[in-house]
Amino acid sequence: MKPGAFRYHRPATLDAALGLLAEHGDAAKAIAGGQSLVPMMNLRLAQPAELVDLGDVAGLESIRMVDGMLEVGARVRHQTVADDELVRRHCPLLGEAASGIGHYAIRQRGTLGGSLAHADPAAQLPLVAVTLGAEIEIASARGRRRVAASDFFVSVMTTALEPDELIVAVRFPVAAAQEGQAYRHFNRRIGDYAIVSVAASVRLRDGRVEHLRLGVGAVEPVPLLLGQLAAEKTGRSADAAWIADVAMAARAAIQPDDDERIPALYRRELTETMVARALSAAIERAGKRP
Ligand SMILES: Cc1cc2nc3c(=O)[nH]c(=O)nc-3n(C[C@H](O)[C@H](O)[C@H](O)COP(=O)(O)OP(=O)(O)OC[C@H]3O[C@@H](n4cnc5c(N)ncnc54)[C@H](O)[C@@H]3O)c2cc1C
Repeated sequence: MKPGAFRYHRPATLDAALGLLAEHGDAAKAIAGGQSLVPMMNLRLAQPAELVDLGDVAGLESIRMVDGMLEVGARVRHQTVADDELVRRHCPLLGEAASGIGHYAIRQRGTLGGSLAHADPAAQLPLVAVTLGAEIEIASARGRRRVAASDFFVSVMTTALEPDELIVAVRFPVAAAQEGQAYRHFNRRIGDYAIVSVAASVRLRDGRVEHLRLGVGAVEPVPLLLGQLAAEKTGRSADAAWIADVAMAARAAIQPDDDERIPALYRRELTETMVARALSAAIERAGKRP
């Protein structure tokens, strides 16, 4: 399979990239790691006439603390996120999720910004962003704006981005003391997209759950934050009965579609199992974070 004809641009600055997007509008597309866009172009599911390569754009590659949040640049690659010490210390959920994306070669090319903009419902990083309540920083030639991850994902492969906009960075809240985080997913083969994925963050105080954030991916068109369920289940002892109760409630809270390969009931059962596994791991880790 081969892509349609396109003109290739390789701007060196963000302003130049934004200028090209403003000039060409719907006809242009940014390319970062190319791990989603190139297959789509080869299948002619995407046919941009102007391809704007972000590979040389400076300033999108840092991982740093800003205003008490962990800021990750849009062009940071999945493997860099997985290996980074700041990520590991302040946002372990992000590192754990990134380490399970596709295969090593894909993680060496794919980027945070590309994953969020592509907005696959089964992708790891959109689920982490929604679960933790990350903020997405967006730029265009018209200016900058910040969008909450929960407002960014609109539907399958559809986001709040306008054609002339780029993601420049994502800010993640950092994990507190006694807060444990865990990501778990199920797929049939290593490297495949998840059939169900779960992200959990549990903060403990004196053995009780003081704060819970729980997200489920791959079951609905956008990553699902189970906010009401989490609020209802806080304040109780973080024991096996609590884990089983939350897992059953999560199973009931999702509305997966029946598809001919994967019945909705199967996704519900997997959700219950994956939530229980993620919560167990998160609670164990919370105890190790004084
Ligand atoms: C075999 C295979 C297995 C995979 N498995 C997984 C998996 O298990 N989990 C998973 O999450 N992903 C998986 N992926 C996808 C991979 O993670 C991609 O890296 C990711 O989806 C897109 O990142 P990218 O940088 O490659 O983006 P690109 O492919 O370059 O671009 C994707 C989209 O994002 C847009 N874009 C890129 N950067 C920006 C930006 N800064 N601002 C605005 N728009 C931007 C592009 O215009 C395009 O629409 C897999 C891919 C392959 C080929």
